[in-house]
Amino acid sequence: MVSYEEQDKQYYEHIIRNLKDRGVELKDIAEIVIFLEKDYVEGLNEKVSIYAINKVLHKREAQNAIMTGIELDVLAEKGLLSAPMQRIMQTDESTYGIDENMAITLASLYGSVSVTNYGYVDKLKHGILGKLNDKSTGKINVFLDDLVGAIAAAACGWLAHNEREVEKMLSEVAE
Ligand code: MG
Repeated sequence: MVSYEEQDKQYYEHIIRNLKDRGVELKDIAEIVIFLEKDYVEGLNEKVSIYAINKVLHKREAQNAIMTGIELDVLAEKGLLSAPMQRIMQTDESTYGIDENMAITLASLYGSVSVTNYGYVDKLKHGILGKLNDKSTGKINVFLDDLVGAIAAAACGWLAHNEREVEKMLSEVAE
């Protein structure tokens, strides 16, 4: 049997690989985190933001949501879904909403601050989110855009709830 730790490693590496294949680097997500949190966490940098993002990417409930969403995007891009779902995904049907629901579920793992932050960046299409939303590329990112926003928002929640650890890391960087 595969241990929980081995599963975690497998899921984490799978997610990192998938994000990269879909054009998303952790530094792109960190950029959103810094944009959202710069007024609340003094001196917040890419390193500490990526640390928080990795905390999220090692949480099982977050991993499950991310893997499921990206898988659906990839299958849709290959045209492998059955008729109504294929159409919904290809047209990014505005009333579908399961992509947003999944993102809200992920964000809410880190408290209400993450849910409101997700809604905010989703509306703004900040940074990489704008690129992921660009329909002219032929890519299908129905889930990915929301999940990336939610990962960034969740990382903000982690930063907010772990103030002392964050301060310590930032002071070490400054030394
Ligand atoms: Mg979407």
